[in-house]
Amino acid sequence: QPEYDFAVIGHPISHSRSPDIHAEFARQTGISMQYGRIDAEPDQFEETVRQFFANGGRGLNITVPYKERAFDMAQPHLSQRAREAGAVNTLWVKDAMIHGCNTDGVGLVRDLNRLGTLRPGIKILILGAGGAARGVVGPLREQGCGLLMIANRTFSKADTLVKEHIALHPQDTGVITACSLNDPRLEQDWDLIINATSSSLGGATIELPDMAFGNDTFIYDMMYGAKPTPFLDYAARHRKLAMADGLGMLVCQAAESFRIWHGIEPAVDAVIEQIRMQLVAHVR
Ligand code: NDP
Repeated sequence: QPEYDFAVIGHPISHSRSPDIHAEFARQTGISMQYGRIDAEPDQFEETVRQFFANGGRGLNITVPYKERAFDMAQPHLSQRAREAGAVNTLWVKDAMIHGCNTDGVGLVRDLNRLGTLRPGIKILILGAGGAARGVVGPLREQGCGLLMIANRTFSKADTLVKEHIALHPQDTGVITACSLNDPRLEQDWDLIINATSSSLGGATIELPDMAFGNDTFIYDMMYGAKPTPFLDYAARHRKLAMADGLGMLVCQAAESFRIWHGIEPAVDAVIEQIRMQLVAHVR
């Protein structure tokens, strides 16, 4: 028997905050659970997942680089959100079958609503067209935005993402569009700019035309850390804007996984503050 019944699995995994977040949710809701970390070598992922569930494990979170492989493992028991994202970050077993969902998009939407940034008809610019962008387009669109533009360094990836979305939702033609990072259409006053690239990880930022930063533009970077990310720093140099990093998204996507596994939706505000304090204490 493993010493925990829930875990996050990835490679590497030591940096993951998920065990701390789920421990807080368990304390808050009075649910008894043990949540561990599993570092799976690339040739061991599927076997490790099967063994975990065969030994009585109840739920897994999946992180980089295994979300697409988790998607394949949960076929055909995938939620609509997982199908749209083409990736899975939450697994559980029901009737002896592995089921999968993707909670990243719900997590981002919950955080943006918590921050008061989503209103019907707003213009949203997403930077990046990788796995993270793919997971959030559907849930964001459901909130009723007026325009959702996906700008990516490699245009073809943004184009494919949009075409696949439109194939499932033809009514979104013209509302969701793709462009490159130097498209003149970026020169407009956005209500919300979401950085879903991994550029901040390498210390770089995405440069945007001045006009993209209006007086009321909200800036969101999916990356998070103890300090403002390079993209948030860059945006703040343009003008004093409201902004947030992706720690809230991380906690909110975990809350949605917790709800799937336990049927209870935990409160997130205090947990976000607590994990923030841990991050800051860690770099001191
Ligand atoms: P992927 O590797 O799938 O995609 C990376 C994306 O970033 C691509 O669109 C890539 O463009 C772009 N990119 C990378 N470097 C640069 C650069 N220097 N300039 C311009 N574009 C660049 O990564 P993910 O989508 O999985 O993750 C993206 C980010 O989101 C990461 O920082 C990750 O930590 C964060 N994330 C946060 C979550 C949270 O809960 N807060 C959840 C999931 C992700 P191209 O296609 O041209 O290569």
